[in-house]
Amino acid sequence: MPKLRYLNLILGDQLDAESLLFDDFDPQHDRLWMAEVSAESTEYLSSKQRTVLFLSAMRHFAEQLKTDSYPLNYWTLKDKKSSFYNALSATLKHDSFEKIRCVLPGDVRVMNEIQQCANDVDIEIEWLADQHFISHKGEFKAWLADRKQPRMEFWYRQLRKSRQILMEDDQPLGGQWNFDKDNRKSFGKKGPSKLSEPLLFEADDITKQVITDVENFLPDLYGDIETFNWPVSREQALAALKDFIQHRLKHFGDYQDAMWTDEPWLYHSRLSTCLNLKLLSPAEVIEAAEKAYIDNDAPLNAVEGFIRQILGWREYVRGLYWSYREDWLQMNALNASRNLPALYWNAETEMTCLHHSVKQVLNHGYGHHIQRLMVTGLFALLWGVKPKAIHEWYLAMYVDAVAWVEIPNTLGMSQYADGGIVGSKPYIASGAYIDRMSNYCKSCPFNPNQASGDNACPFTTLYWHFVDRHQDFLSKNPRLGMQVKNWHNKSQDEQQAISQRAEYLFRNLP
Ligand SMILES: Cc1cc2nc3c(=O)[nH]c(=O)nc-3n(C[C@H](O)[C@H](O)[C@H](O)COP(=O)(O)OP(=O)(O)OC[C@H]3O[C@@H](n4cnc5c(N)ncnc54)[C@H](O)[C@@H]3O)c2cc1C
Ligand code: SF4
Repeated sequence: MPKLRYLNLILGDQLDAESLLFDDFDPQHDRLWMAEVSAESTEYLSSKQRTVLFLSAMRHFAEQLKTDSYPLNYWTLKDKKSSFYNALSATLKHDSFEKIRCVLPGDVRVMNEIQQCANDVDIEIEWLADQHFISHKGEFKAWLADRKQPRMEFWYRQLRKSRQILMEDDQPLGGQWNFDKDNRKSFGKKGPSKLSEPLLFEADDITKQVITDVENFLPDLYGDIETFNWPVSREQALAALKDFIQHRLKHFGDYQDAMWTDEPWLYHSRLSTCLNLKLLSPAEVIEAAEKAYIDNDAPLNAVEGFIRQILGWREYVRGLYWSYREDWLQMNALNASRNLPALYWNAETEMTCLHHSVKQVLNHGYGHHIQRLMVTGLFALLWGVKPKAIHEWYLAMYVDAVAWVEIPNTLGMSQYADGGIVGSKPYIASGAYIDRMSNYCKSCPFNPNQASGDNACPFTTLYWHFVDRHQDFLSKNPRLGMQVKNWHNKSQDEQQAISQRAEYLFRNLP
């Protein structure tokens, strides 16, 4: 059998028609390859929502490739290939190629698995640069090399200057690099008004078939699927972008950090899945937001706040992910050693904030940034959950989770397992923060302002317990030393009552 030229792999989060794979594709000599493999949902946990999203988006992308007459080798769940390794070796047994090509995966584990298969079959593999991102190959590495301590703010400014985004020559539009001070509003007692329901996408025939396949072949995944409403094609992704820019971007800044019971989306974009699967490029999302400002459709604080998330945080965490690669999963700067409480898998808890935030994840695979950082993440940090256990939960349960973005956010920003690479301090707070930013505490049996006694808010009790047990390290941090002083200003009786309540909670989680 004559050798073909390139076997081009397209992974589930690489649904990018502009990818380098297509540049010199020759249908006579090359093949495209995609695979649905069970280990990516079972050995490495993935919820129903996340699995259906990935597989449905893959099948939509494959349909388009077939319409465009690309020769495609596609393994479905029905083919029962357990891993990328197995699916790829089965293809290579059948056809021979000069070389495998694949854009850099979003997970170093997957990259290693594919590399291992290529080594074992003795075929060359070429890893192509991922052109989806704003920063070019090597750009972050060069920036990092010049710094003692990386900070997102300076990376973001460099990208804004070099790409001329929201800039007037070398000055930021509006004379400020950020408007964070304007962007921390809560909804007050009345709650959010003017909410416009985002465009939700009903399951089409392809998605319905995926749901049936997942139920047949992967029956034990966590979460619900009846509520599935995510964009799964390029067309739907563009519609979701337009809908956000027209209806919600203008309030994004003001209420970026606010939370409200049974309002999962508020003014957030819901675009992370489209971006992470590469149905949308960050450049086109940023351009659309910047245009809304130029056209007077959204104020600068909203547009800058939104662009900062994508141009700043998204590009920054990706750079850090690849800078530390496999090291991330070994990190545990705070020596956290507890198991993940069961409530993360079933939402069964009296703590209203956690109940609603986890329920939303089970229903939709979604929580906005502050729910992830200051409710589910904060509780795990205060409880002292092993970093790897909370990482596995985030990776499994959120529809937009891919290792390169989930790992630095969870292990770095949220759990401080990295000892200060992503951020300069752990994000710790008591229940008073959640009370200020949401209405959760109003219907909770606990009191956010109480640290001890039967009604004490577990967040508040555990916050002080955290300050106490990490006081040596916290007192060295200029921004947290005050919290240690506040702990020492409490009377011995008060300290003892808090410690006793914390010990009670560790034995009897509400
Ligand atoms: C513990 C934890 C885990 C997280 N895990 C993920 C994850 O697996 N996948 C993921 O895409 N984001 C993750 N984030 C970041 C952020 O919470 C989500 O990107 C955001 O909530 C997605 O919802 P949205 O599209 O409505 O975002 P919006 O609030 O509308 O923000 C706009 C876009 O900005 C980007 N963005 C915002 N914050 C971040 C950030 N910190 N890092 C990278 N990009 C950001 C996203 O692409 C997002 O779509 C995590 C944050 C925390 C604290
Ligand atoms: S009182 Fe505490 S546990 Fe209850 S909702 Fe508020 S922060 Fe959460």
